[in-house]
Amino acid sequence: MGVICDDPGARPLIARFGSARLTGVVRILVAEARVQLSGDGEPAPSIARFLALAEARLEAGARETLHPVINATGVVIHTNLGRAPMAPEAIEAVRAASGYGNLELDLDSGRRSSRHLHLDPLIAQVTGAEGGLAVNNCAGSVLLALAALAGGAPVIVSRGELVEIGGGFRVPDVVAQSGSALIEVGTTNRTHLSDYEQALKDHPDARVILRTHPSNFRITGFTSAPALDDLARFAHAKGLLLVEDLGGGALIDLAAHGVAGEPTVQASLQAGVDLVLFSGDKLVGGPQAGIVAGRRDLVDAVARHPLARALRLDKLSVAALAATLRLYCPPCDPAQRVPVLRMLTEPAPVVAARALALQAAIGDLPGLDMAMEETLGYAGGGAMPMQALAGRAIALQSCRFSAEDLARRLRTEARPVLGRIEKDRVLIELRTVADSEVPALAEAIRAAV
Ligand SMILES: *Cc1c(COP(=O)(O)O)cnc(C)c1O
Repeated sequence: MGVICDDPGARPLIARFGSARLTGVVRILVAEARVQLSGDGEPAPSIARFLALAEARLEAGARETLHPVINATGVVIHTNLGRAPMAPEAIEAVRAASGYGNLELDLDSGRRSSRHLHLDPLIAQVTGAEGGLAVNNCAGSVLLALAALAGGAPVIVSRGELVEIGGGFRVPDVVAQSGSALIEVGTTNRTHLSDYEQALKDHPDARVILRTHPSNFRITGFTSAPALDDLARFAHAKGLLLVEDLGGGALIDLAAHGVAGEPTVQASLQAGVDLVLFSGDKLVGGPQAGIVAGRRDLVDAVARHPLARALRLDKLSVAALAATLRLYCPPCDPAQRVPVLRMLTEPAPVVAARALALQAAIGDLPGLDMAMEETLGYAGGGAMPMQALAGRAIALQSCRFSAEDLARRLRTEARPVLGRIEKDRVLIELRTVADSEVPALAEAIRAAV
C-alpha cells in the first residue's frame, strides 16, 4: 500500500484529495483485491490500475447525490421526490435565515426568547387554535403529544384507526414508544361511543383518546365511527383529552375548489378536538414539520416536554414554515400562492394548455411517437387516496427504446425527469410540472430520445 501511495503517479491525487483520504481508499481497494485474488489465479492489479480505481472512488464520494428533478409523475405530494415544493416566499425566507438571526432572541429587550414564538401566533391565526408549535415531523408530533399529555397513562384508539401510514409509521408502535399502553376499542369497520365507554370502565386511568385520520386508505361499506364532535363531547364529559392525528392537514376547504376528501384542521378544532397534529409538507405545502395546534395549556405542556427539545425544528424550517403560513393570511389567496394547492386545484384545461405547450416545444422528433392523453393524477402523500384529479399527459413511445429504457434515460438526464410508465409508454404528466419547467422538460426529452 505504501508502494502505491508513494508512487509518483499518486502525487496529483494527494494534491486533490489529501494523503489521508488517498491512503484510506487504497487500503479498501487492496483489501478488495485480496479477496478477489484468493478466488481466482489472476495477477495482482498494477499500481497504475490501483491509482485509477482510487481516483474514481474519490471522485464518486465527492459528487452531489441530491439533484433537483422535474416531477412529471402527476403525484403532487410525492414522498420520494421530497413532498411539497416550497413557495418562492418560503425559499427566500430560508435564504434570509441561513446566517445569524434572532431565532431565540428578543430584539427589544436583548434577552433570550423561544423559537416557538415565531410560529405560535401564526399557527393560532391560521387554524383558529389558541396556540401552536411545530416539531420535526408529524410522526414526531404524535409521539411528543402522547408522551406529554398521556404521561404513561393508557391511550384509547379505535381498531379502525390502528393504521400504518408508510415509511414505518404505525400507530400502535408510536403509542408504545410514547410510553403508554394502547387500549383498542371497536372493530375494524365499526366503532361506537359505547365501545369507548366500555374501555373507560375497564381502564379508568386512561387520559387520552387518539383519533387517526385514515390518510392513505378508506374503509367503505358497512362502517361506522362516532362523529368528531360527539367523540369530543364524550371525551370531555369523562375528563379525557381528544388528540387527532390528521396527517395531511388541509388549511383550506379543498371541496370549495372541486377537490373533495380532506377534512380541515379548522373543522377538527371547531368540533372540539383538544390538540390537532398535522404535517408541514403535505397539504400545508411547506417544509417538513409536524404542527401541533390546539388548547393553550396543552400546547405549552407539549413545548415543555423534554422530547420537544429532541424533536425541535431547525432555523431554516422555522423560517420556511412561517413564510408558508403567512401565505394563508389575508389578503393572500393560498390556493394560488401555495404550489401544492395551486397544483391540486388547477382546472384540467390549464393542465391541457401546458401539455400543448410541451408538445410544441419538443417539436417533431424522428422515431418518437407523441400523443396527448387524458389521465388521472393523485394528491399523494397520504392525502385524498380516492380523489382522482383529471389531468393531461404526453405519452411518449420511442421506436428505439423500450418504455423502461426511455424512462431511465429521462431519469439520468442533466435535469432528471420522472415520468410514469403505462402500457409500454412513458407518460409525462403536466399537473405537477411548472410552466417555467416546460423548456427544460422539452430539452431533456429531446436529449433522451
Ligand atoms: C403522513 C402522516 C403521518 C406522518 O407524517 P410525517 O410528517 O411524514 O411524519 C402521521 N399520521 C398521519 C395520519 C399521516 O397521514
